Amino acid sequence: MTFSSCFLLICSLLSFPLPVDRSRSLEAEADAKTVLAEEILHSGDSIIAFDIDPHGARAKGHPSDPDYAVYGHRSVYFDLDGRSIEEYNRLAFDITPDCPGLRVINLTVGFVNAEAGGDGYNHPTGEHLVHLDNGCDNRCYLEIEDLRRDRMKGLRFTVTLKGLDLPLKGISKIHIKKIAAQKVQSVERVSGWSPHADRIVYSMTGYAADGQKTAIIAPSLLKKNNKFVLRNADTGKSVFEGKIKTDKTTIGQYGVMDFTGFNVPGRYTLEACGLSTEAFAISDGVLWDDSCCKVLNFIYSQRCGFPVFGVHSTCHTDLTSVHNGISRSYAGGWHDAGDLSQQTLNTADVVYSLLELYDKKKETDPTLAARLREEALWGLDFVLRNRFGDGFHASSMGLLIWTDGAVGNHDDISSVRVQDVSYDNYLYAAYEAYAARVLAEDKALSAYLTQVAREDFDFACAKFKECGFGGWITPYEHTFCTSESQYMATASWAASMLYELTGIKDYGEAAADYAGYVLDSQCCSPVSNEGLCGFFYRSPEKRSIVHHIHHSREQVYMQALAALCRTQQSHKDCTKWYDAISKYSGYLKAIMKYTAPYGMLPSGIYREDEPQDKDAFFAVHLFPPSDAEQQFAEQKKQGIDVGGGYFVKRFPVWFNIYNGNLAVHTSMGKSAAICANCLHDDALMDIAREQLYWVVGKNPFAQSMIYGEGHRYPDLNNFSSGRITGSIPVGIRSLGNSDDPYWPQFNCACYKEVWVTSAGKWLSLVAETI
Ligand SMILES: [Zn+2]
Repeated sequence: MTFSSCFLLICSLLSFPLPVDRSRSLEAEADAKTVLAEEILHSGDSIIAFDIDPHGARAKGHPSDPDYAVYGHRSVYFDLDGRSIEEYNRLAFDITPDCPGLRVINLTVGFVNAEAGGDGYNHPTGEHLVHLDNGCDNRCYLEIEDLRRDRMKGLRFTVTLKGLDLPLKGISKIHIKKIAAQKVQSVERVSGWSPHADRIVYSMTGYAADGQKTAIIAPSLLKKNNKFVLRNADTGKSVFEGKIKTDKTTIGQYGVMDFTGFNVPGRYTLEACGLSTEAFAISDGVLWDDSCCKVLNFIYSQRCGFPVFGVHSTCHTDLTSVHNGISRSYAGGWHDAGDLSQQTLNTADVVYSLLELYDKKKETDPTLAARLREEALWGLDFVLRNRFGDGFHASSMGLLIWTDGAVGNHDDISSVRVQDVSYDNYLYAAYEAYAARVLAEDKALSAYLTQVAREDFDFACAKFKECGFGGWITPYEHTFCTSESQYMATASWAASMLYELTGIKDYGEAAADYAGYVLDSQCCSPVSNEGLCGFFYRSPEKRSIVHHIHHSREQVYMQALAALCRTQQSHKDCTKWYDAISKYSGYLKAIMKYTAPYGMLPSGIYREDEPQDKDAFFAVHLFPPSDAEQQFAEQKKQGIDVGGGYFVKRFPVWFNIYNGNLAVHTSMGKSAAICANCLHDDALMDIAREQLYWVVGKNPFAQSMIYGEGHRYPDLNNFSSGRITGSIPVGIRSLGNSDDPYWPQFNCACYKEVWVTSAGKWLSLVAETI
């Protein structure tokens, strides 16, 4: 039985979250590090005691979002009296929870020095979340070499009270028994592009057999005549040898091993400069299956209104939306992230991704396909139940607590947002139409999906006719930054999805009409000294460029144009659509050099005067700091000046908690894959695959960002549901106003917070590359 099949049996037949393998995690590596020196900062038994029953209290948050709230916090503070721990580079904690009513236990560690930051030091990014196993001793570590620690005021350990998952009465206690400052021989890199000198940076899952295959080492290792060897992982036999190329790029100098010429499927290791990798695959079709099983397990474990064994019971059945006197439960779908919030459109995005991969796998791997379909149906049920049938949907809810599930008492929540927004209805229509086609075997469901897709499209058109663009009500939903051109691309794609489903010509004509606006918004004349073009402005005025900083639906431009090329081949504009896809492809290819030899797609090109376009600027940058424009100018300096009033950024310009770029670069990767399939261009497919490789280890930190996939995967921030195999976070952020990657050990939101959007992006990108 293969690894993948075993996982599938467990999760599909038993509806049981996959076991968590910590043995290959970054925390396991931390445990194995040699301690050169240690100073005990605290010993004894300090207890955080708390009653998890809120006793009829109601959680109250900020007046702007009062139900995004918890029942309070319980802390213990260890006063370090200004002592220096500069000679140490990590903290170690021994913690033992005794919490009878809790299945998911964690606390946060606050690190308080008299001053933070300063020359050569980073600021703590927040409080560090520590996952704990109940009823046993937990040894936890936090590396602190990049933090100022010359006058330590103290360490604060905090438990957040999030209500009862199980109504088991009793007092919980968390015993903090020992805190030590330690010096270890080698600490993890947390920022910058250069890899650690003792690691080969590579895709830990592996590489597509017919694609580009490279790995990276630090330039300090390079000497004359450096050779690398690719070995069969089972026999140890050398199968390919090459010379390590020195590559000087815009981000420094690197040693690059290129074994693209070897394409025999199997499992291999790389050796170079006295270093070696673990085994990885070269594969021609099933490369990502295990990763998809794991990510699917994460999505499953985020189910709301469903008992997830070992995580939570049936939840949130007392969370309701109200519209025209009708009340509906908002339980269902998937918890959006580490918190318990939901956004219906995010759920719909993930449903679409699951169905895309289902459609690709149904012939070659019916078991995996069946699980993908089952999970898609769970989300689709939620999307359809939250549709009121008059253009309105229950659309989102910010939530942090477990409610008691009983309707009629103190903790009921009826503030689920309800709205009729044309953009949302276009996207719902697209997803419903696609689902109707892919799930055609269930004739009744397919007929209903066809009906609601057509209705939602009509609701969107009517609302757009009445109100025009926009109409977004809350910045908490990730559609708020949508540009006019993205809006029209979405409308076009929805019309094409309906045309493919129904064959009704009006939809095809509507798709072509909407696309005219999209074409008018594309940069077609080269700008900057680099001659960049092909990207999209927010509107035909070509004032501000489209950017995404958190959620991203960048791929919808190419989805729309590729759908037209597929379905309207005799249309007079068909050549223009191909030309637009070709220009955008050229743009993607042109900006790859700014992160080479890594393969992460840069965030893209900016205009220097974008802050003056205030409506657009503050639509993208929600909850901005007061000095947002100054920070924009600083981040511009840290990007690449390409002349003519333009600059390129590797990471987005961003200012607030929304940082972490996994959705951004994988959406662009999805675009690259769509272009590759449309234009039959292998170089574009390589760009798409590099986005997957980056996530599973081919990044400067040599860490996999999918928990349980590859190795050296760090703990992620899932404070509601704990450690889950297949968890995938918001993504790597940048350091301050710099354009350098930053992936500190602090397990904070939002960069390390798990997110079903990232999971959907993974599946959708995989589906486009196979
Ligand atoms: Zn729930």
